Amino acid sequence: MTDLRTEVAGWLAANWRDGLEPKEWLGRVVDAGWAVPTWPTEWFGRGLGPDDAKVIAEEFRTVHAPGAGQDAWNLWANTVMREAQDDLKHAVLRRLLTDDLPMCLLYSEPGAGSDLASIATRADRDGDEWVVNGQKVWTSGGRAAEYAFLIARTDWDQPKHRGISFFFFPMRQPGVEVRPLRQATGDARFNEVFITDARVPAANMLGDLDKGWWVLQTALMYERAVMGGPFGGARPKASAAAAAAAARDPESEANAPTPDLSLVVLAQRMGRAGDPVVRQSLAQLHCLRSVNDWTNKRAAAQLAKDSSSPLASLGKLAMANILHVAGRLEVGLLGASGTLAGASCAEAGDANYSMHNAFFFSIGGGTDQIQRNIIGERILGLPKEPEVDRDLPFRQIRRS
Ligand SMILES: Cc1cc2nc3c(=O)[nH]c(=O)nc-3n(C[C@H](O)[C@H](O)[C@H](O)COP(=O)(O)OP(=O)(O)OC[C@H]3O[C@@H](n4cnc5c(N)ncnc54)[C@H](O)[C@@H]3O)c2cc1C
Repeated sequence: MTDLRTEVAGWLAANWRDGLEPKEWLGRVVDAGWAVPTWPTEWFGRGLGPDDAKVIAEEFRTVHAPGAGQDAWNLWANTVMREAQDDLKHAVLRRLLTDDLPMCLLYSEPGAGSDLASIATRADRDGDEWVVNGQKVWTSGGRAAEYAFLIARTDWDQPKHRGISFFFFPMRQPGVEVRPLRQATGDARFNEVFITDARVPAANMLGDLDKGWWVLQTALMYERAVMGGPFGGARPKASAAAAAAAARDPESEANAPTPDLSLVVLAQRMGRAGDPVVRQSLAQLHCLRSVNDWTNKRAAAQLAKDSSSPLASLGKLAMANILHVAGRLEVGLLGASGTLAGASCAEAGDANYSMHNAFFFSIGGGTDQIQRNIIGERILGLPKEPEVDRDLPFRQIRRS
């Protein structure tokens, strides 16, 4: 273990410096086997165990170098690695690990959000391809995406969780129309997507035909682990001026940067650091974050042993609460100027953005209520929610 630590530290000392072009850096990390060390050597890994992976991630954190630990958090790469055929893995895995393949999630539909098993987008086989028709909604990053994880119904005579398949779907083709949707924050970071006779190669199916529900559970688990994890609530940091400039571009799908400011510093600057209520809120936030760090460590340990971890739901739920508490506190600390918005007061603009954006975490990736259902059923062992249509052929289920 010490040898490994020495090796990683030596490699970082020889290779890492601030300001490297991100994709070039990620390429070096991937080729050295540090990005996904628990994966086999033929797939960019080193065949190491979870304890070794922890050592590698720690060394990267020590020098603030990105790119390690992707076997724990890269939703796209992990799902492809587990479920895709080798040809597809060869074609896309490296690009997914070097953040060089923009992706989006085509899951939710107007009639299927929390109950994703009710999707009505269909895929019909035509030779070596599937032909897809339907409508998706709330698609983050859909305008920039080159590919999507798409769920579509491939058998209407099976019960709703069964006749679903999971595809690695090309977005840039005739028959895929992406229209921006405006959010409460004023941004248009997600979209509705209309799919008409679009095509996806049969070889791009992840998992088995009609078994896409279980692939989806794997992908959702990684998504929740990311949202609940240490970087879940983080937006890129920038100076207050740069953050204000970026906030003026609501058409962008990228995450808006946030001013690089801690709430303790803000409290001090606003003369509120001695206020007992403010101190109590800051301490509460610290405790919530610390407890969530421990939960995330437990989830990572469970994930290293099993193929799924309901603890990821606990982390995501906790992170949503942390972001609501932090957003309210940030606005409150600004006092009357907290009512301003936009470039006229960058700090208030950011605080209001944080407060509204916290709802993203309470809804996206499965709502807070759905996470509580999962925790109740899969961690606490409570009885399952009644579902009257669970065993009916999907074709016979009444839908609005
Ligand atoms: C910012 C953002 C980004 C998103 N990005 C994407 C994306 O990229 N791709 C994608 O496919 N989707 C995306 N989503 C969609 C998101 O996953 C859905 O909005 C979410 O799953 C809820 O579905 P719904 O909006 O249809 O609400 P509904 O399912 O209609 O739920 C409405 C309300 O009823 C509650 N409810 C529903 N069922 C139950 C139940 N069984 N028990 C208790 N309460 C229940 C819900 O908690 C909610 O409060 C995004 C959403 C947001 C807000």
